[in-house]
Amino acid sequence: MLGGGLSPQLLEMRDAGLYCTGGDFYIDPWTPVERAVITHAHADHARAGSLNYLCSKTCAPILRARLGPEIAVQELDYHDSLSIGSVSVSLHPAGHILGSAQVKVERGGYSCVVSGDYKIAPDPTNEAFQPVRCNCFVTEATFALPIFRWPSSAETFAEINGWWEQNRRDKRASVLYGYSLGKAQRLIAGVDPSIGPIYTHGAVQRLNDIYRQSGIPLPPTIYALKATTKTFSGALIVAPPGMNGSAWVRRFGDFSTGMASGWMQVRGHRRRRAIDRGFVLSDHADWPGLLEGIEQTGAEQVWVTHGTVAPLVRWLNEKGISAMALQTQFSDEDESPLEFEEADAP
Ligand SMILES: [Zn+2]
Ligand SMILES: [Zn+2]
Repeated sequence: MLGGGLSPQLLEMRDAGLYCTGGDFYIDPWTPVERAVITHAHADHARAGSLNYLCSKTCAPILRARLGPEIAVQELDYHDSLSIGSVSVSLHPAGHILGSAQVKVERGGYSCVVSGDYKIAPDPTNEAFQPVRCNCFVTEATFALPIFRWPSSAETFAEINGWWEQNRRDKRASVLYGYSLGKAQRLIAGVDPSIGPIYTHGAVQRLNDIYRQSGIPLPPTIYALKATTKTFSGALIVAPPGMNGSAWVRRFGDFSTGMASGWMQVRGHRRRRAIDRGFVLSDHADWPGLLEGIEQTGAEQVWVTHGTVAPLVRWLNEKGISAMALQTQFSDEDESPLEFEEADAP
């Protein structure tokens, strides 16, 4: 599967996913394995059924909430290293969501870093991305096209606040869609809570509680199904994208809809989803962010996976960095243009 000379001594691709030979473990496997090292708790990276999980301290409570309290989880502080078999393993902040980690595997002075999903831009709801020097870097490529350049989050939140305020003046509710893990908390932390009350879908509320317990400050939020209010006029309601057009959302009366995602930079995505306003806000690196993230590793080999792989491989090879595509089954749950449902229970 892997090309010749590409450090087969550390990582290789197997049926269950990316496998570390010297440590006998998988990183973000997509079928159950004996030992899984998890970059972060989004569903396409953290799948149920493995016997043992290893993840960062702040990832662990989210992983338990999603996969069940009975799973066996070993927690590792960022930067601490752990010997597994003949390799040493350490986790480093990826800046994607709370607890997200890049996995560094090292043996005999040669190291590979698996980024998982990452972003460079600051986000008060998770640990800041830290570049890790390595020989071989496995990078995601969700938004690996030069057209993807994110505005600053200050600009995006000014737009969201302006939209919410206008809706309040028009005596409407504002329903803001964002993926329940990570995006929703970033939205809640970034909006101006003086505009009005903030209500949530149960999937969002459950994760808000875990974020707060981990020390991430969020303004007060009310679980919408438990609300005693008669009208949601002027309120902000934060819900997963799958709720758009559902019976769940119709309870809020007259409302405008908004959606926060990197895909909102592409014309057509918002219209196709029948959403009133699109806000560009991503938990992935944009094109300049990917190039910056890759350059900071100093890696002489780059494996590209998870997204728009080919343009990035080509760009890197033209710059003299040895790059190749790596086939994986990550589906980009958190930024997916596809709808999917989440139960409303906190
Ligand atoms: Zn993710
Ligand atoms: Zn992903």
